[in-house]
Formats: sequence, structure tokens, C-alpha cells
Amino acid sequence: MLLSKLREALICFGAGRVTLPYPAAPREPAPGFRGKIQVDADLCFGCGGCAHVCPAGVIQVEDAAQLTRVLEFHWSRCTYCGRCEEVCPEGAIRLTSQFETATDRPQDMVIRLEVFMGPCQRCGRCFPPPTPLERMTAAGFRHGGDGGRA
Ligand code: SF4
Ligand code: SF4
Repeated sequence: MLLSKLREALICFGAGRVTLPYPAAPREPAPGFRGKIQVDADLCFGCGGCAHVCPAGVIQVEDAAQLTRVLEFHWSRCTYCGRCEEVCPEGAIRLTSQFETATDRPQDMVIRLEVFMGPCQRCGRCFPPPTPLERMTAAGFRHGGDGGRA
């Protein structure tokens, strides 16, 4: 009995270190890892394509006013499938490598954007300014404290 335990201990010590030092030392995720979503408020023009394809219903789109569309990403429900990143025509959504997302503040789990929607003078329907430069100079754009714009 004692001998077998000693033999086991020898085998274990002989194996060397088999664990990683995380969380004592930072750990880089593997290439292609899909972590917390990040939304670039300067690129998003409020088309709602991401909300349309999101299987988990993370993204809510609401027209808060005639010219203001509000997008809320309740990413605590996110399954990290990457569909939103794939379909966004502007590349405004990116899945980062961030995986340490624990928080005790529910508001940390919501990304909120206010997007200015330029309406057509004829039909009244919203459209995005065609180029990033025109978007920056379009009347009504502003950069809020949380990166949103209205
Ligand atoms: S990664 Fe998938 S589940 Fe998460 S917000 Fe994008 S589409 Fe929705
Ligand atoms: S993040 Fe991309 S797909 Fe989603 S509303 Fe903005 S521009 Fe459209």
C-alpha cells in the first residue's frame, strides 16, 4: 500500500508542471477566440442587420424619435456565435478576445448606441450618409459620453 502510494507520488513529481499559472499570470486566448462584442459607434448607421440575425435576441432596435434610433446590446445573453460581426456592412461589430467579463453591475452588460438617422427629403425614410466623411460632417451627429451619437 505504502509502496504503491510512493510510486504514484514519484510518477506525479516526474511529470513536471502540467497546469497553467492563470489567473496569477495573464492568459492569451487561442487565435480565433470569440469573446465580448465591441461596437464602434462611429461606424454603425443603424441598419438593424445585426439585430435581424442575432439568434439570442441580444440586440434591440428602437426608434426613439424621428431622427434617433437606439440600439441596445444586452450581451449577457450573447452566445458568441459571431453572426452580427459577419453581417455588419460597416464592420462596426467585432468579437474581441476579452473573456474576463464577470461583473456585479447589470448596466455593464448593456452597450447602448444612439444613431442619428438622416431622412430622405422626399419620402421621409432614413438612410445613412454614403461615406464616413459625410457621416462625420452630417448635421445632427454628436459624440456622447459613452461613445453614442444622436
Ligand atoms: S455574437 Fe451572436 S449572439 Fe452575440 S450579439 Fe452577435 S449575433 Fe448575437
Ligand atoms: S452594428 Fe452594423 S449591422 Fe448592426 S445596426 Fe450598426 S451598421 Fe447595422
